[in-house]
Parts: sequence; structure tokens; C-alpha cells
Amino acid sequence: MIPFIKAESLVHEYSRRDEEGNITGINRALDGIDIEVKAGDFIAVLGANGSGKSTFAKHLNALLVPTEGTLYVDGKDTSDHINDLAVRQSAGMVFQNPDNQIIANIVEEDVGFGPENMGVPTEEIWKRVEESLKNVGMYEYRKESPNHLSGGQKQRVAIAGIMAMKPKCIILDEPTAMLDPKGRESVIKTVKELNIHENITIILITHYMEEVTAADYVYVMADGQIKMQGTPRQVFARSEELIKYKLTIPEVTKIALALIKKGVKIPKDILYVEELTDILLKLKARQ
Ligand code: ADP
Ligand code: MG
Repeated sequence: MIPFIKAESLVHEYSRRDEEGNITGINRALDGIDIEVKAGDFIAVLGANGSGKSTFAKHLNALLVPTEGTLYVDGKDTSDHINDLAVRQSAGMVFQNPDNQIIANIVEEDVGFGPENMGVPTEEIWKRVEESLKNVGMYEYRKESPNHLSGGQKQRVAIAGIMAMKPKCIILDEPTAMLDPKGRESVIKTVKELNIHENITIILITHYMEEVTAADYVYVMADGQIKMQGTPRQVFARSEELIKYKLTIPEVTKIALALIKKGVKIPKDILYVEELTDILLKLKARQ
């Protein structure tokens, strides 16, 4: 089967320029990325600031083209500009700041904007708007002004706007960076549901380790390279490396590791509070 996304030795170099526009140096932001994503997968890309995550996201949306190597999205070579529209239709992008993505004064009009631009017939637009807003749990807010919504609600409206264009894949570049914990949780839950119920391929870019537990598979980036990959559990068990790449591991994993250091016999890949409490209660019962 052809993977939905396939990056092979993908390199991106930015040129550094002085005030006159002369190139003074090269900044290698992606340094040989190999990634394969199957349709329907939920992938997380984790990395500290400056590791190359947004540069990679822009490649997935054909906003940047490879300096070296190749990238295929939905079978289309992103280095050929002829494919730009098709790539963007296959893979919609949600950005960090919800305020920069919402354009209309009424939620339902905002969600209808994308399909309208694509020339979708009016009746079909309203059907899609209704469906998308229901999918992200924002249908009851359809007549409201986006200005009155919380950050998390705005991000869900932005996701509905992408859904209304019927993409196969949604790329989210740090969609929760500006949200409070409740908003973060609601966005991640929404994304997970779209993956499970609508079979939308998800690429979630984040530096919050807690969020990647929702993913099937995690790539860890540093210095423009993929340094680690595996299931969330496999990755979280390698805490020393994660700390080396300036990532903070979940509090509950830290507590578990501290207990292990003190000689408590528990697994080192604990991700959830309930998991740790259950294990500790079982240990206690045995004493
Ligand atoms: P992240 O999203 O993980 O924070 P980025 O992809 O934004 O990382 O940046 C990766 C590297 O590329 C950083 O060193 C950054 O300074 C550099 N970079 C990003 N955008 C540009 C640009 N437009 N011009 C030059 N360098 C850039
Ligand atoms: Mg970024």
C-alpha cells in the first residue's frame, strides 16, 4: 500500500541574508527526514523550540519545497508546484494562534468560508458546516461571534473550518500552545475523535509530552533530525534522551521514575495517573 505521507531524506535549508539581501549563510532546518504515515494514522511530532517542526509542517502543506530529498503527500510530489492545490486539499493545516485563522463574524460563516472558496454548491456548504460543527462539538455556538469564544473553542471552530473542506489529513502545528489546560484537553479530544470516527489522518505537532499519548506513533525531532520514534510508551520509557532533547516528561512519569530510583518495582513507561495509582495499590495489597 502507498503511504499517505512519505518523506525520504528530506532536507530544508533557509538562506540567511543581510540587509541588502545578500546570502550570508545557510540554516539547515531539516536534515534528512525519513517519515512514512499510513492513511488513518494518528502521528505526533514532538520537539523543542527550533527543532524544525514548523518547517516540516510547511512542507506537508507545500508551503515550502525540499532543498534535497523528496516528499509525497497523498501520492503527489510536493516539489512540483502543479500539485500545490491538490496537496493543500488533501492535507489541511491548523496553526498555533486561533485568532489568526478565524475570519468571519459568525461561527457558521467562518466554517463555510473554506468550502465556499473551493466552489462547493451552497446547499452542500450548509450540510458540511452543520456536520463539521457537530463533529467538533461547537454546533450550539453556530450563530455566535467567534470573539466570544474561549481559545479552545476557537481552535475547534478552526478545525471545523478545515473539516468542511473534507481533507484526508489534518496537520496541527502546536494547536494548543496558546490555550489553557481545559482548552488543550478539548482540542486533543476533538482531534482524537476525528481520527477514530472520521478516519482522518492526523499529524499533531507539539512540545507538550502529555498530548502525544493520544497518538499511535511518535517522532521526536531535534536539530532538524528524527532522533527517536516509537509508540508513546516506547518513547516515554527513554526519559534520559527526552531530557537531552529539552523535552519535559509528564509529571506522572517523573514520579514513577523517582519511585523506581528508590527501589519500588514498577514499570518505567507509566503515562497516566490512574495507571500509577492502580499499580501502587496492587503493590500495597501484596504487602
Ligand atoms: P520549530 O517549529 O520546531 O520551533 P522551526 O521549523 O520554526 O522550528 O525552525 C527550525 C530552524 O529554522 C530554527 O533554527 C529557526 O531559527 C530556523 N528558521 C525558521 N524559519 C526560518 C526562516 N524563515 N528563515 C531562516 N531561518 C528560519
Ligand atoms: Mg513551530
